[in-house]
Amino acid sequence: MEIELVQGDITAQRVDAIVNAANSSLLGGGGVDGAIHRRGGPAILAECRALRASRYGRGLPTGQAVATTAGNLPASWVVHTVGPVWSASEDRAPLLRDCYANSLRIADELGASSVAFPLISAGIYGWPVEDAVRQALTVLAAARPATVSSARLVLFDAVTHATATQVRQRLL
Ligand code: ADP
Repeated sequence: MEIELVQGDITAQRVDAIVNAANSSLLGGGGVDGAIHRRGGPAILAECRALRASRYGRGLPTGQAVATTAGNLPASWVVHTVGPVWSASEDRAPLLRDCYANSLRIADELGASSVAFPLISAGIYGWPVEDAVRQALTVLAAARPATVSSARLVLFDAVTHATATQVRQRLL
């Protein structure tokens, strides 16, 4: 699987599936979540409400992922996942890695060939950027999906993109 680091807005990505850094309510929030619902329109939220009323009455657990269609976005699907809130006292990195692994698995089950990820947990949830990139790339580099041949990590600003590029060089 090819892994790209790009600077940009996740909602503008022309890929089969984009990943949403959602919260467990699935009913919208700030950051990536807010941008996806604003630009994707009400169809996504309607599907999220239906998921809450059926499979996820208590919310989507941290580390898990679930797909909806993508409304007005260029992508075909949105894969919603709930990152862990950063904790200095507890190692929640396995949950963050689960987000990438489960989102990729769902995209693969949908038959997607390209997937774009935001830097999950690195915004409102406070995860240090360098480690967030490290966790993302660790999972993506080890993954052997069946249909997904391209994974894109989308960094919102130039500084985060530069940091991500450095982290990738150190990992190689
Ligand atoms: P979380 O609640 O999981 O921390 P956020 O959405 O607050 O998620 O932030 C995750 C990362 O996504 C942060 O690095 C943030 O700067 C970035 N981000 C925010 N909006 C967008 C967007 N529209 N496209 C891509 N990345 C974004």
